[in-house]
Amino acid sequence: RGKRAFIAGIADDNGYGWAIAKSLAAAGAEILVGTWVPALNIFETSLRRGKFNESRVLPDGSLMEIAKVYPLDAVFDSPEDVPEDVKANKRYAGSSKWTVKEVAESVKQDFGTIDILVHSLANGPEVSKPLSETSRKGYLAAISASSYSFISLLRHFLPIINPGGATISLTYIASERIIPGYGGGMSSAKAALESDTKVLAFEAGRKHKVRVNTISAGPLGSRAAKAIGFIDMMINYSLSNAPLQKELYAEEVGNVAAFLASPLASAITGATVYVDNGLNAMGVGV
Ligand code: NAD
Repeated sequence: RGKRAFIAGIADDNGYGWAIAKSLAAAGAEILVGTWVPALNIFETSLRRGKFNESRVLPDGSLMEIAKVYPLDAVFDSPEDVPEDVKANKRYAGSSKWTVKEVAESVKQDFGTIDILVHSLANGPEVSKPLSETSRKGYLAAISASSYSFISLLRHFLPIINPGGATISLTYIASERIIPGYGGGMSSAKAALESDTKVLAFEAGRKHKVRVNTISAGPLGSRAAKAIGFIDMMINYSLSNAPLQKELYAEEVGNVAAFLASPLASAITGATVYVDNGLNAMGVGV
C-alpha cells in the first residue's frame, strides 16, 4: 500500500509545506494536512473553489488530492492548555479538536496509522525585534510555536507512525550563523529544533524505528517569510552569493523531503540537510 503523510503547517500554496505535500503526493503518498485554526476557513474555501487547482497539478498531469484537512494549533497540546480567551475566539470556537493530542487521536480514528510526519510551521511574534530587545514572553512564544511544537507532534503521533517511518521539519541557517533581522528568538528556536532533531532521532529510532531529520532551507517568499520583512533581501543575497546562482524553488525542498521520507534515505537520521543552493558553505559573500 502507498504511504500516508500528515503535514502540519499548510495554509496556502506558497510555502514549503505545500511543496512537500506535492512531492510526497507525486511519489504516491496519501496526503493529510494540519492547518492553523485561524487560517483554516480561507484555506478550505480556496481549496473548494479551485483557487489552488493550477498549483495542484502533479508531474503526471493529475491533481494532488488532500484526503483530509485538520484544524490544528500546535502551541496547545490538549484542551486543558487552552486559555479562555482563545476558546471564546470566534475563529477557534468554530472548529473543534485542534490541539495536538486531539488531532493525533482524530487521525488515528480516521486512518489508523501514518508513515510520514512533516512539521512545516513556525511563529515568532517578536521576529522583527533584535534578540537583545526580545521580551521573555516573545522568546518563549517563538520556542513554543517553532520548536516545542515539533516535540509535541512527534510525541503524540509517534504511537501511530509505522516502523520505518520518517519525520521532517524545516529549519533555517540563522540557528548557527548571524542573520540580522531574524529576531525575536527565532534563531534560538531553530537552534533548539536542530539540536532536538538529534536527540529525538535517538529516541524515536530506538523505540519506534522512526527517523527524524530536518531540512535547512534557503530563503523562499512564503507568507510567513514575507511577514518577517527581509525576505527579498535574503533571496537577492543568495542569488548573488550562493555557489548556485539560481532561484531556489520550493519544489527542490519538497523533493528532498520526499527523498528523506523514502527508503532511499533509510540510514539517514538526526541530520540537518541543507537545501539552499549551497549558500551555507560560503564563508564570505562574493
Ligand atoms: P508558510 O507561511 O507557508 O508556513 C508556516 C505555517 O505555519 C503557516 O501555514 C501558518 O499558518 C502555520 N502556523 C503558524 N503558527 C502555527 C501554530 N501555532 N499551529 C499550527 N500552524 C501554525 O511559510 P514557510 O516559510 O513555508 O514556513 C514553513 C517552515 O519553513 C517554517 O518552519 C519556516 O521557519 C521554515 N523555513 C522557511 C524559510 C523561508 O525562507 N520561507 C527558510 C527556512 C526555513
